[in-house]
This record gives sequence, structure tokens and C-alpha cells, in this order.
Amino acid sequence: MMFRLDKRCPICGDRLILRETRKYIELMCPACMLACRMDKRNVKKYIRGNTFDWVGLIEDLYLAFRKYVPLLTKPRRVRKSNKRADVFKYVR
Ligand SMILES: [Zn+2]
Repeated sequence: MMFRLDKRCPICGDRLILRETRKYIELMCPACMLACRMDKRNVKKYIRGNTFDWVGLIEDLYLAFRKYVPLLTKPRRVRKSNKRADVFKYVR
């Protein structure tokens, strides 16, 4: 699953992509190759009865993306974590 959101990268302004992998839910900027992801084991709190609160999850990922992604500098494998999500740069 992968789709483009209306939310924009704070660095380049490109639209962000949300994608789901086997282990993570990721919010990424395809231009900057920067991403913020949450381990699926931590997403239980977005389950509300029979529904999954995608909007809440996307908002939380986006807040982390905006807050922490600009702190990433040039070195290749920089990672920064907070309790909610990891931000990192894809190595091309
Ligand atoms: Zn970007």
C-alpha cells in the first residue's frame, strides 16, 4: 500500500508519500529521500473499536516528520528517534 498525501515536505515542498511495509508505516519525501516511520507494533493505540484511525496516525507521523527531519544533516546514516517514530534518510 502506498499513496501520496496532501501534506508537504518541510524542506522541498514536495508531496509526501505514505506507505506500508511488512514492519512499518512510513511517511516519506520521494525527492529528499527522507522518511519517518513507526513500527507496526506501536500502532495499536490507533485502533478504535473496529476502525483504524489513519488520520490520527498520519497526523502524528507528520508532526514527527516536520519536527525531526529538518534536524537530519548530511552524514548518511543519521537517525533520530522520539518515542513515537524514527526519522532517517534513505541511502541511494
Ligand atoms: Zn523533500
